[in-house]
Amino acid sequence: MLNQQILANLTKIVGKENVFTTKEDLICYSYDSTPIDHMPDVVVAPVKTEEIAAIMKLANENRIPVVPRGGGTNLSGGSVPVAGGIVMALHRMNKILEIDTDNLTATAQPGVVTAAFHQAVEKEGLFYPPDPQSMFMSTLGGNVAENAGGPRGVKYGVTKDYVLGLEVVSPNGEVIRVGGKTIKNVSGYDLIRLFAGSEGTLGIITEITFRLVPLPEAKRTVLALFDRLDDAARTVSGIIKQRIIPTTLELMDQKTMELIESFKPVGFPLDAEGALLIEVDGSAGEVDRQIVIVEEICKTSGAREVKVAADAAQATQLWTGRRSAFGAMARNALQVLAEDATVPRSKVPDIVREIQRIAAKYQLTIPTLGHTGDGNMHPNILVQSNDEEELKRVDAAIDEIFRAALDLGGTLSGEHGVGLAKQKYMDWEFNSSSLNMMRAIKKAVDPNNILNPGKIFLRGE
Ligand SMILES: Cc1cc2nc3c(=O)[nH]c(=O)nc-3n(C[C@H](O)[C@H](O)[C@H](O)COP(=O)(O)OP(=O)(O)OC[C@H]3O[C@@H](n4cnc5c(N)ncnc54)[C@H](O)[C@@H]3O)c2cc1C
Repeated sequence: MLNQQILANLTKIVGKENVFTTKEDLICYSYDSTPIDHMPDVVVAPVKTEEIAAIMKLANENRIPVVPRGGGTNLSGGSVPVAGGIVMALHRMNKILEIDTDNLTATAQPGVVTAAFHQAVEKEGLFYPPDPQSMFMSTLGGNVAENAGGPRGVKYGVTKDYVLGLEVVSPNGEVIRVGGKTIKNVSGYDLIRLFAGSEGTLGIITEITFRLVPLPEAKRTVLALFDRLDDAARTVSGIIKQRIIPTTLELMDQKTMELIESFKPVGFPLDAEGALLIEVDGSAGEVDRQIVIVEEICKTSGAREVKVAADAAQATQLWTGRRSAFGAMARNALQVLAEDATVPRSKVPDIVREIQRIAAKYQLTIPTLGHTGDGNMHPNILVQSNDEEELKRVDAAIDEIFRAALDLGGTLSGEHGVGLAKQKYMDWEFNSSSLNMMRAIKKAVDPNNILNPGKIFLRGE
């Protein structure tokens, strides 16, 4: 519980209507998109950088934990206030400040919803590629803090590849500005890359300048259906080997398609073991050329059917189906644990086989999909009960999935971050010198450990 003086000071900074303390309000900020939850003591919703700086000064002086929060869609426990304290809700900072069509940049506040940003820049004939499939709920600040990816990562990269400038409030309330609108910038250490993916542990992101690219003239979507999941997985490197980098190269297994069809039917077949949803973009001529090659590779790799979406409406329908996968799974389980073990793309068939083997070994349902073009797999473990025996099998299966990904030369997380969910595996991926350097950075920036404490590293470290 925070004392009355602290609450009075917070009220002075943001106004009484932006400080929330009732149980029903606090519950709304106690969880994210994982099954983990913990109540904060208070929620504050600032609207200006100066307010955030004042809140951080107050929190730092009084050693109160602060957890920044965007849309709460993260899948690693990142915005759960495990140590209580203040949740800083950033939804009021939701303005796009500028779209600069001369420099192909846009500057926005952190609370802008990702899809709204896409729409605004596309109106100007520009394109912001990062497309987390939560884009209608996630925010730009959360995307930078998690270094979000998405299906288009295979061709266009991830959020950090588009951040040119940042304004950040440090844990002691100082306002830092790094980068700007220049494409090239090698002055000093690259703090932008440090903040991107820092999961709210190093600073509160208050303004972001993004690099944009011209909106591609054309795009087309292909759905390739396979009788064997292994063939679908092998096709991924077959396409890349032909020097075709599609905009998206998504794999779905049979269970995923079955669940989508029972929730939001879009015409995925129930008897195909695997499917690839592939999009290519570029000039109209280049798109036509690439589609022919992609179709050919799918067929020679064992696809039983390759359907090219006839128009934008058909393509949107297929993507709506793909985006509803998580919701479709959530309807069929007590909990969905969405993992994102990632491997070099040549190893996609191996990790897919490993996931199937692990699911069978532990008698679990693990519908799997993924941004397979960049090796980023999402095995989703459907947990059906709180039964201790089932939870033990789930834990053992997750351990084995991460072990397999690392043994294949991969990483614990392609895009969801470490948060709380993957802390216990960090020393599987990093040696103690690497982990000590990360801890030293956190300690130097946040000596009182008030900003999103308990995340990334094991608690008590
Ligand atoms: C259905 C579904 C599909 C998804 N698909 C994808 C996908 O395709 N690709 C992908 O990468 N992710 C995906 N995600 C995960 C999630 O949407 C992303 O991690 C997203 O970037 C989180 O944004 P958010 O605004 O919801 O942030 P939150 O969940 O609120 O916060 C995420 C982290 O960022 C910190 N944070 C938030 N705002 C700030 C700020 N202004 N300054 C500093 N730190 C901040 C928080 O403390 C927390 O640690 C998906 C999630 C769901 C539920």
